[in-house]
Amino acid sequence: MRKRVYIAHTGGTIGMKRTRDGYKPERGYLQKLMRSIPELSHASMPSVTIHDYEPLLDSSNMTPVEWVRIAHDIAEHYAGYDGFVVLHGTDTMAYTASALPFMLHGLGKPVIITGSQIPLCEVRNDARENLITSLLLASEYDIPEVCLYFGGKLLRGCRATKVSADGFAAFDSPNFPPLGEVGIEIEVNRDLIRKAERKKQLEVREFSSPIVSALRLFPGISSELVRNVLRPPLQGLVLETYGVGNGPDQNRDFIAALSEATARGVVVVDCTQCLEGTVNLAEYAAGSALAKAGVVSGYDMTAEAALAKLHYLFSRGYGADRVKRELEKDLRGEVTLR
Ligand code: ASP
Repeated sequence: MRKRVYIAHTGGTIGMKRTRDGYKPERGYLQKLMRSIPELSHASMPSVTIHDYEPLLDSSNMTPVEWVRIAHDIAEHYAGYDGFVVLHGTDTMAYTASALPFMLHGLGKPVIITGSQIPLCEVRNDARENLITSLLLASEYDIPEVCLYFGGKLLRGCRATKVSADGFAAFDSPNFPPLGEVGIEIEVNRDLIRKAERKKQLEVREFSSPIVSALRLFPGISSELVRNVLRPPLQGLVLETYGVGNGPDQNRDFIAALSEATARGVVVVDCTQCLEGTVNLAEYAAGSALAKAGVVSGYDMTAEAALAKLHYLFSRGYGADRVKRELEKDLRGEVTLR
């Protein structure tokens, strides 16, 4: 029996058509292109159902509403398929790949998010390989996780980040080894794959609309700006800091703005702007001042994963103290706790 894969085509470069105004998504066009690729009907490939979303989006337009829609789409088709491929624009792919693992509770089948830098309609493209390998990963491998496959690397979704605007190796997970590498062989590292929880049913833990945000520090950032961002009704903030989690501790008003907000119950989670490594708020005075102001460590989480985790935790209805406690736990393989 041929395996079955459900393709959720949300938009992005991979399925776009060349027009006089530049590349544009068009419903039905991806199916047409896929029919003209003989490899896709080879006996070793799964049979597929393609669902073109309406509208097909450039992923720069994605919001948490679309993340929830994708999660429900997977849940509705869960029983009838061996695995799922989500075709997605690369720009915000890491955000969606970070959000889905929190929403898809009890996932026991592969969900592989992919896209491409050059559309399938072009002669030279990375779309064909990304699509074919993703379909094989979704149908032939026991990977009960949300993953991002791109340019030869299978990454844990909630560890992935976009590292190149125009290269084929556009994604990486600097703080976690790839779950698999694809060269001549498809090599999946079984030891790194999370185990499905036995007897668990898939349940969508929907994101409601908590008010969360992200702010990247820069030299000279004004405390007024920070205060404005932290104003009610904000519930949670990913603060993207320097190095091991440092900020301008000599700017008393900056520290005061953070202290006032955390005292009001705003959860501020500290993630480093560095691609690699972990936050350690005890290493420098510039970090411990943030900790004293009530900022919590995001350890080695990506900013994308921290934002998704805040969405998830506030959507569970947790108060600030519980959110802070849950941030200290590894819920979906998103953080390394030593
Ligand atoms: N702007 C496109 C998108 O994110 C880029 C891409 O797909 O690579 O939808």
